[in-house]
Parts: sequence; structure tokens; C-alpha cells
Amino acid sequence: MTEAPFIPFALPDVTALEVDAVVEVLRSGWITSGPRSKEFEAKFTAAVGASHGVVVNSCTAALHLALEALGVKAGDEVIVPTMTFAASAEVVRHLGATPVLVDVRASDHLVDVAAVERAVTPRTRVVMPVHFGGSAADMDEVAALARSRGLRVVADAAHAFPCAYRGRNVGTLADVSCFSFYATKTITTGEGGAAVTGDPEWADRMRLMSLHGISRDAWKRYTAEGTWYYEIEAPGFKYNLTDLAAALGLAQLSRAEAMWARRRAIAARYDAAFAGEAALELLRAPPDRVSAHHLYVLKLRPGALRVDRGAFLELLKQRGVGASVHFIPLHLHPYYRDTFGYRPESLPVAFDLYQRSLSLPFFSAMTDAQVERVIDAVQAIVREQRR
Ligand SMILES: *Cc1c(COP(=O)(O)O)cnc(C)c1O
Repeated sequence: MTEAPFIPFALPDVTALEVDAVVEVLRSGWITSGPRSKEFEAKFTAAVGASHGVVVNSCTAALHLALEALGVKAGDEVIVPTMTFAASAEVVRHLGATPVLVDVRASDHLVDVAAVERAVTPRTRVVMPVHFGGSAADMDEVAALARSRGLRVVADAAHAFPCAYRGRNVGTLADVSCFSFYATKTITTGEGGAAVTGDPEWADRMRLMSLHGISRDAWKRYTAEGTWYYEIEAPGFKYNLTDLAAALGLAQLSRAEAMWARRRAIAARYDAAFAGEAALELLRAPPDRVSAHHLYVLKLRPGALRVDRGAFLELLKQRGVGASVHFIPLHLHPYYRDTFGYRPESLPVAFDLYQRSLSLPFFSAMTDAQVERVIDAVQAIVREQRR
């Protein structure tokens, strides 16, 4: 149907700055965790407004470390919205605890705080809001609930750099906030993540556990200032971020504002093109928060088209547009369904959103021509399939 090259759902925005930064590390003789990781850790932590941070090799690792540092253990419960990625709940299982899945709000796919409140039991230890698509969850309401019930809050902020909530920076909204630098995220290190917090003891625990539970600055043991001697204080994990990745991250961080501005401009163009289309619904983030604009989600209005979401995605693909879906709610997956006895209707809002939402190609390296091709493809399919 089209001769133009395929537009992927996401592409990393990598320039000569990133290439040179990584090459410099390769030539330096020190490629794993070291000075670049420390520098990236300090700069990223400051950029999200937090006082302490630990960079690691994924957001999944950050979430695992956060829950471990907060003392989550077998028998505990952690409340997680079902509209999220595998990582949010699997780390709860890694600690032998139970993820209790709750529903989200239809307008913005953010966790429904009333549903969180209903899910609290005497075993609940942590609430894990997800800043879906780059908009912070209702963090004041979550914090108030957590305070009244003696719970901790770990934010899955994988989508949320840079963003703000009621004038506050994203790194200050939870006990621990966890970010992703995966290839498709708003800044990337290939694979990478960070956990930030206001509490120095949690930060120390996460740092310790991120590298085998070995006493502080274990990474220095092969340097001139280092020493061969180390002590294992706890059975930790292998979650450290390499300097190769951190160099990429530093370059990305220096361009984060510009990349964000580009995504904002693309979102505005998509909004203008789709807002008047009765067959489509847009995500409506609350006005008191500034989004990182990580995803651009469209929802098909029920009954408006002759095709369902799956067929719509197929038609987009035929026109060279690689859309995706965020997310297949956790409670629909065989593991969670069968282990905890969920039915699709157990969490009806997320189930409904799943069936009719799709995420358009959306990344800062997109050209204007690509944006217009995506818009043309969506509009043509809507025209052809309107009921
Ligand atoms: C990408 C993502 C993660 C996991 O990030 P990794 O860095 O790949 O571990 C966690 N939660 C959400 C909501 C994500 O989209």
C-alpha cells in the first residue's frame, strides 16, 4: 500500500555526541562501573530533584532494590496497577510477596486511588503507582493514603523523565522512584535504570545490594585508590550500570530538554489532527501535571468503526506504521490469571482500555514527514472503516 519505509514504534535518538561519549569510554580502559556511572548518577538524581540516587542496569533492578530496601518480604502485599509492564509485579514475586492488582482510571490510565484504598489489608506494605505514559499518578492522594495506613510508596517512573506534579519534580513524589533507560524510553543507556529517594539509608541499602552486597565502593577495588579487600554484608544482586552505558546516559541527559520539546511538539501535532475525530479518544492527563510525553495513546471509540483494535493495528502496519499496545494488563496474562484467579472483568476499566487502545510511533528522532504519514494513515483507516 505504501512504498515509503516502515515507521517503527520507537527509535533511540542517538547523535554524534552519544557515539563520541561511548567511544571515549571504550578507549579509556575502564568500561564497567566507574567515574562515568558516578557522574551520571549525580546528574540524573539532581535532574529529578532527589537527594540520593543509585544507577543500575534496568528499572526492573531499581524496583527490586527499592522493595528490598523497604523490607518487603514473603507474605507481604504490594498494590500494583494492572495497567503496567511485567517488571512492576514480577519484582514483588522475587521477594516472595504478593502483587495485588488494582484498576486504573479510564481518562488517563493512572491508578485509581479509591481502588488502592479498597485493596489495602493488614499485609499491605507498599503501594506502587505507575506514572503511565509520563504523567505522574495522583501522588498527593496516594501519599495521604499511605500515611494514614502506614504504607510506603515506590513509584514506577519508567515513563516519567522529565515530568512534574503540582510544581514538584518527579524524583520527590514517592519514598523511592524508579526510572528506566531502556532503548525505547525518553532517555536511554541501551539498558539502564535509576532509583532515587530522599532517604540516605534506603539509598545506601540499594547501593549495597546493587553490587553483590559488597561493602561500599566495591567497584573501586581495581583502581589505584582501591584495595583488594572487601566484605560481603548481604547476599546482593548484580545490578550495576556500566560506564559505557552511563556515557550514553550523560549525553542523553544533556539533550533531554530538547528531546522532550520535540516529543511535546509531536504530541501537539497528533492532538490537533485527532481531537476532532469522533471515532477516536485521546488520553486526557490531569492539568496539574506536566507529562514526560513517553507514549502517544489513541483509543477507538466503541462501535464507531467496523474494525477492532487488533485489525486497526494490522491496517496501520500495511501502511508502514508500527504501532504498539500499552499494556496488556497484568491480570490477563496466564501467570497472574492462573496464580491469583483473575478474570478479565475483575479489573474492568483496564480490560476495556486494553481492548481499544494503541500507541502510535512517538519518539524525538521522528521527522515531520513521518509524523504526517502516521496521521494520514490513521485518518485514512478511520475514513475507510467508519460505521
Ligand atoms: C519499561 C518499563 C519498565 C522496565 O524498565 P526496564 O528498564 O526495561 O527494566 C518498568 N515499568 C514500566 C511501566 C515500563 O514501561
